[in-house]
Amino acid sequence: MPTPLIAGNWKMNGSLNLVESFGQALADADLPSRLEVALMVPFPYLEPAARALAGTRAALGGQTLSDQPSGAFTGEVSGEMLRDVGARLVLVGHSERRTLFGEDDAAVLARVRRALDVGLTPVLCLGETLEERDAGRGEAVVIGQLEAVADALEADQRSRLVIAYEPVWAIGTGRTASPEQAQSVHAAIRRRLATYDDALAERVPLLYGGSMKADNAADLLAQPDIDGGLVGGASLKIDDFLAICQSAG
Ligand code: PEP
Repeated sequence: MPTPLIAGNWKMNGSLNLVESFGQALADADLPSRLEVALMVPFPYLEPAARALAGTRAALGGQTLSDQPSGAFTGEVSGEMLRDVGARLVLVGHSERRTLFGEDDAAVLARVRRALDVGLTPVLCLGETLEERDAGRGEAVVIGQLEAVADALEADQRSRLVIAYEPVWAIGTGRTASPEQAQSVHAAIRRRLATYDDALAERVPLLYGGSMKADNAADLLAQPDIDGGLVGGASLKIDDFLAICQSAG
């Protein structure tokens, strides 16, 4: 069973003060021994966060990366740069990137490859819209997004993925998937991973994301195929984030 991972996604939120406060709170926190923690902060805060989180259990992550190694791509940030400032993980294919910035499956695959090439752990986000779920296509959409990446990778690359199931209708809406709904999709993802390799299915952490909060995290994390959480809004409040971390222990 993978080590539980709670990853906070600050999106375009936060401040230098919040970075400092999180560094202090995480340094003082008595976290469960079997738990990994990560914070995905906006680009300008990566370097200060690397300093603030040094000596804590939290790893640092980026929220996206370019599909190019370097060059004339104004405004973009490469995987090498993320590594340079201490990031170990990076979100890829977050639904906001897919819908607001037009990243399709090919763009997601290219970014996963870049992350793997530079030694970052890609946290591959998958999720269906409400329309797709209501049409009975939710699971097929999620498995299709997974296959668009996993089919194209070598076995050793697949084994370095973290996967986050984030139903689009639950992100930032306050509407959480029920533990049973989330478990059912997680189990489908695990089954699909097992068709590549049983050991892969055992090894890849499957995170749930979508309005995970201090008061619903324990029930979600108690599901057999939910190995952790990708937390948006609640990762901006130290007490809530730490409470979610405690639920994962
Ligand atoms: C997210 O942005 O990945 C997310 C899950 O957001 P929220 O927890 O706010 O729904």
